[in-house]
Amino acid sequence: MKTLFTDISRLIGISNAVKFGSAMNQLESLENAYLLVENGCILDFGKMENTPESDAIISLGNREVLPGFVDSHTHTVFAVPREEEFVMRIKGASYEEIAKAGGGILNSARKLRAISEDELFNRAKERVQKMILNGTTTLEIKSGYGLSVDAEIKMLRVVKRLKAAFPITIRATFLGAHAFPEIFKERKDDYVELVIKDMLPTIIAEELADHIDVFCENGFFSQEQATKVIQGGRKYGLPAKIHGNQLGYSGGVQVAVSNECWSVDHLEFTREEEWNLLLDSFKSDFGGTLPVALPGVSYFLGLPYAEGRKMIEKGLPLVLATDFNPGSSPVHSLQMVMSLACTQMKLTPEEAFHAITVNAAAALRLTDSVGSLAKGCRADFLVMKSENSLAKMPYFVGQNQVESVFVNGEKFIS
Ligand SMILES: [Zn+2]
Repeated sequence: MKTLFTDISRLIGISNAVKFGSAMNQLESLENAYLLVENGCILDFGKMENTPESDAIISLGNREVLPGFVDSHTHTVFAVPREEEFVMRIKGASYEEIAKAGGGILNSARKLRAISEDELFNRAKERVQKMILNGTTTLEIKSGYGLSVDAEIKMLRVVKRLKAAFPITIRATFLGAHAFPEIFKERKDDYVELVIKDMLPTIIAEELADHIDVFCENGFFSQEQATKVIQGGRKYGLPAKIHGNQLGYSGGVQVAVSNECWSVDHLEFTREEEWNLLLDSFKSDFGGTLPVALPGVSYFLGLPYAEGRKMIEKGLPLVLATDFNPGSSPVHSLQMVMSLACTQMKLTPEEAFHAITVNAAAALRLTDSVGSLAKGCRADFLVMKSENSLAKMPYFVGQNQVESVFVNGEKFIS
């Protein structure tokens, strides 16, 4: 069954080549175009004057069409929002005071242990629905609010159920090494052992994770501990992504590159040394460590932004993601992230667009199937509300510029 989508004023993002440096600003598009879809995949595209034979025709009403967005870093499965802590912070409470009052990641962990898997699934499902309506058609979700064998597995089972419940591409990341539970405060190495020796084998046996992740920061997981976790995952063939350089020069980039991680995420604290290491990683066979900036966190916590502009000028293939989570980035829309990237990090709309599509797909090693409208990719695409949509998304702050979302060539109905 071939479906022909016609009357596309501009088809944007038609190649799946990763965009490095100045290429991030160069749009690959076709005006007055059609898109031919077969078995949920893109068979062809071209100019309207050359439309091919098909079994069905759907006119898109002279609208712009973009590839569905890729959110490569989220913590979408959580029990409850933490707006009380947000208000405490507005009134001047410090991170330590909030933690003392029972807040922070350990608060999320406590709440998560207290609710059932079914309830956790229902709450996450509602959030994923909203994300899709805002354009996200590929979504990575991490564990890390469990911090015990049972609770981490509960989270990852929820992600597995989300994969089955939605037509979009969802990838699961095991982040048992997110924070140290209270009882391990004085024996951190024992917790690392628990992650590697108890959590990992069970997660592997149930096929619950596609990647492993670790929070490598001063005061959290050291470079040595992070390396242990990554190598623990590698024993089972799990590729790694890491949280690094958020709170300082944590050595996260060094750990990521030397362990062939697919991405290093956060990067608020980087300089020439880190940028050069990342650049050099693309000369290696494993395909390089993608830098992922998370401007929602900087916005929400009032912290410095990652130097995305400089990274692009250095020639790096920058990625942007929401880091959607209840503590530091309750931002579920990649359109909002685009806006922050353009206004605060001085990216152009074209650069921000590539950072949430093809480059983000590279951070998940999925450029063959998502992140662009290249032939052979999944027919995951967005019909936009108005012309010049790449600039309208960051410009109209907080508005949704996506009219409708197609996943595997079918219109997504919530
Ligand atoms: Zn995160």
